[in-house]
Amino acid sequence: MIDRVVLVSMHTSPLLTPGEGTAGGMNVYVDELARAMASRGVEVDVFTRRDRPGLADMVEVSARYRVHHVTAGPDRAVDTADLAAFVVEFADGVAALIETMDPPPDVVHSHYWLSGWAAIVLKRRLGIPVANSFHTLGRVKDLTRRFDDPPEPLLRIATEHEVIEEADCVVASTPAEAADLMEHYGADPGRLCTSPPGVDHTLFHPGSRAAARRRLGLGDGPRVLYVGRIQPLKGVDVAVEAFVLLSRRIPGVELDLVGGPSGSNGEPELDRLIRRVHEAALSARVRFRGTMPHRALADWYRAADVLHVPSRSESFGLVAAEAQACGVPVVAARVGGLPDVVQEGRSGLLVDGWDPSDHAAALETVLSDAATAGVLSRGAVEWSERFSWPATVNRFLELYGGIAARVEL
Ligand code: UDP
Repeated sequence: MIDRVVLVSMHTSPLLTPGEGTAGGMNVYVDELARAMASRGVEVDVFTRRDRPGLADMVEVSARYRVHHVTAGPDRAVDTADLAAFVVEFADGVAALIETMDPPPDVVHSHYWLSGWAAIVLKRRLGIPVANSFHTLGRVKDLTRRFDDPPEPLLRIATEHEVIEEADCVVASTPAEAADLMEHYGADPGRLCTSPPGVDHTLFHPGSRAAARRRLGLGDGPRVLYVGRIQPLKGVDVAVEAFVLLSRRIPGVELDLVGGPSGSNGEPELDRLIRRVHEAALSARVRFRGTMPHRALADWYRAADVLHVPSRSESFGLVAAEAQACGVPVVAARVGGLPDVVQEGRSGLLVDGWDPSDHAAALETVLSDAATAGVLSRGAVEWSERFSWPATVNRFLELYGGIAARVEL
């Protein structure tokens, strides 16, 4: 029986609005997991770094779900790449708080390599079992990064190896991520657990496209949607180049890009994309909408004819699952976990590589063939049902119980 779970998310807080900066799918994941576990009667304490002055030591988000801000390094934003210097100070702060907890945590579930490192420090010091979710892996990102994107630091790769070696369990979101962990890091299959994240189906469900467009003030022409952080890894450049080609074939088609810049190369990437759209004389048809509150996204999905996910690397791709839950077909790159999230030919189309003309052709298929679009839309809703937070939490509680029992032996 699991009474208390500690979630560690050092570099980014579940209280942040996802879609720009350090906040994306992982923040949604940690927040949803915490809410769903707390609603099952588990005490959930999330630890994150204090990255702004004036943050409360603890925020009570809902019954049994708390977020603790721990001082480690300066109380301001620090580039993720520079946070390694503060991991041990962060782990010391978390350990001091854990030692006051009654009941003590049964398990620490850490997220991302920096938090995995902190969790291993906690395990060595306090003997608490650790499950770690990486969300992205340095070696895997490096395989398909754009030529001008810098490689991942060696410290990250070395730390990932150490966390994989020492954690009681490594959680993969998809079979593809589990395969990557074994192939690129030699992970022990006996300590791997594969569990997809969920989708909040109370928020993301089908609804009238026309009504969503009315609420958003959009016209009734064909629409492509991109949702996500803006950086080279996400392939937003592929979305824009594919749209340039598509705009010559589908009269009146428009592209909405929802999300903001992220990472050290996010701002220059956004500037480049805006310049490119301007050069192509498409500023009236390509709109950079900025970051939207998570709750507002359901209408953006419903308003679209197709969601484009051209990521160069993607361990899962929550946006693909959310759009499908709203009945929107997805055109995605065949990379990472996306082939597990999108059922090819049934809920969307997968494209090999990042050639914009291949992506434009797949988008054109969905936009120009109403029968195919209808089949994919119905298939998307059905396929999305497999992604559910209550089911994810059932699997995690079982997993935590298993590793806690193993450590007690
Ligand atoms: N998101 C959001 N507002 C935005 C853009 C994105 O709430 O303006 C959310 C989106 O709904 C999804 C998450 O951010 O839940 C992005 O997750 P995904 O797994 O697609 O990408 P990641 O950020 O993990 O690379």
